[in-house]
Amino acid sequence: MEIAENIKKFHQLVPKGVEIVAVSKFHPASLIMEAYDAGQRIFGESRVQEFLEKQKVLPQDIRWHFIGHLQTNKVRPIIGKTALIESVDSPRLLSLINRESEKVDVVTFVLLQVHVAEEEAKFGFYPDELMQYLHSEEFRSLKAVKICGIMGMATNTDDEQRIKSDFSTLHTLFKTIKEDEALQLKDFSKLSMGMSGDWPLAVEEGANIVRIGSAIFGSRYYP
Ligand SMILES: *Cc1c(COP(=O)(O)O)cnc(C)c1O
Repeated sequence: MEIAENIKKFHQLVPKGVEIVAVSKFHPASLIMEAYDAGQRIFGESRVQEFLEKQKVLPQDIRWHFIGHLQTNKVRPIIGKTALIESVDSPRLLSLINRESEKVDVVTFVLLQVHVAEEEAKFGFYPDELMQYLHSEEFRSLKAVKICGIMGMATNTDDEQRIKSDFSTLHTLFKTIKEDEALQLKDFSKLSMGMSGDWPLAVEEGANIVRIGSAIFGSRYYP
């Protein structure tokens, strides 16, 4: 019951035009169904095996966002099953998604993950590196992937100024790419940032996708 209430609460709190991804990683299919029955249709998963198991048994109109680090040897099984892969963090991974998509004649919608946080461990392109890559021949040649925007995470800190500045950096990069006429990225419109702890700041700084896990489903118990 609590999950249904949380879903309703978030759909009231989050401004119209901002999509809510309910991050269901580590939670069982039964809890996803509680959110589904309350009207939620977009769910986020971060591990391939877990995602595939849930995708198989849950309603087919769920739009799955893959949000975790994707190892190159795990790409093939998820192609054709995602609405959006938000966590494309290297040229090599994008090439592979493109190749596997071509093989089965689909176009895969993706976001490019950008690293702005202080932590070393987070994945993603650095802003300069991303701009360079987007202008490369290598990138231009990819026909079976659609770049819908960028995804990022703020530094894990209590320092609101730092979090705001991370989100603002992402927003600026988003606008720079969107307005770059040489790139001609027609479907580039999504800025995914903000999680349970920092989503209001992200929305203030221009996010139009937020990824909410624990504030909807409660704590995760990592196996
Ligand atoms: C787990 C996860 C989230 C959700 O985090 P919460 O703090 O539980 O809301 C959002 N984005 C990514 C990339 C994640 O891995």
